[in-house]
Amino acid sequence: MKEYWSSRIRDAVPYVPGEQPKDRVFIKLNTNENPYGPSPEASKAIAAAAGDTLRLYPDPQCTDLRAAIAERYGLHPSQVFCSNGSDEALAFSFQAFFDPEREIVFPRITYSFYPVYTSYFGLKCREVPMNPDFTIPMEALCGDNGGVVLANPNAPTGIAVSRDAVEQLVQANPQAVVIVDEAYVDFGAESAVSLIDRYPNLLVIQTSSKSRALAGLRVGWALGHENLISALCCVRDSINSYPVDRLAQIGAAAAVRDNAWFDKTRHAVMDTREKTAAALQERGFTVLPSKANFLFASHPDRSGKELLDGLRERGILVRWWKDPLICNWLRITIGTPQEMESLLTALDAILG
Ligand SMILES: *Cc1c(COP(=O)(O)O)cnc(C)c1O
Repeated sequence: MKEYWSSRIRDAVPYVPGEQPKDRVFIKLNTNENPYGPSPEASKAIAAAAGDTLRLYPDPQCTDLRAAIAERYGLHPSQVFCSNGSDEALAFSFQAFFDPEREIVFPRITYSFYPVYTSYFGLKCREVPMNPDFTIPMEALCGDNGGVVLANPNAPTGIAVSRDAVEQLVQANPQAVVIVDEAYVDFGAESAVSLIDRYPNLLVIQTSSKSRALAGLRVGWALGHENLISALCCVRDSINSYPVDRLAQIGAAAAVRDNAWFDKTRHAVMDTREKTAAALQERGFTVLPSKANFLFASHPDRSGKELLDGLRERGILVRWWKDPLICNWLRITIGTPQEMESLLTALDAILG
């Protein structure tokens, strides 16, 4: 029953987030959370700020957080926009840069929020078919379109393209904004941030949720030409002027400034990823080459659903999609080495 619902949402097909179970303790390898936790500096800064000043609205411009991000990435603060998770930066971008008259393009297999935003904001898209090896045919994203959205590394495959390939894409689409979603870039891919000064149509979106282990704080950011950042501010200030709360601004700034923790933990994740990929291959899995904090893997003798259910029975959650193109694949988040041992033990039991 959808009585009283606006026509805008009556036919909407919302995004389905990965499960956050409350009933029992699982090993959670289903939502790409970071197993190592955030910088202790971030937790300290948040604790120190959780007092009387919470009665005051936060800084709508996120001045200090933007300064921290700008310094980290060699940009000017006017090239930085902060949001309530990078999903919000993405949602604002779809509203700021895309029009219903011109098709936007993105790969057929990618972050499933893009098609959700497309239809929710009344846009049209063309989904570009993947190559058989799940790489992206980059030529198909070039020219004659109203915008491009590229996750690099891609989700849920984990496959990355080079900075040169992104530059060619941006050059080939001067008529439209190219959004590069770098949610996982810190786990071994090449960032496009260094191209920002040269291309006024490039917007790079990043998040503190994965490589800085702050998924619970909800802070993301968009990096690009000042003109694009102004457009995002225009959307934000038409909806909610304070999307990033006080504790989030303070915690994320501390995390961005703690490079030592960032490097130590992301390298631990990458190291575990490579070991886990080899161990899965030894067991007969096909594993795509990942530059993210997850692996996308498939086994010739068991369907994706069988593996998903078998792991769940053994207390391990991974991510699986019904989509026939990928229904025999599992997306497995990289956890601690011990969690990965439990995963392999469970898979051995399932495979017999
Ligand atoms: C996790 C993820 C995001 C968004 O994360 P937030 O927690 O909203 O910052 C965006 N894009 C991709 C591809 C992701 O996997």
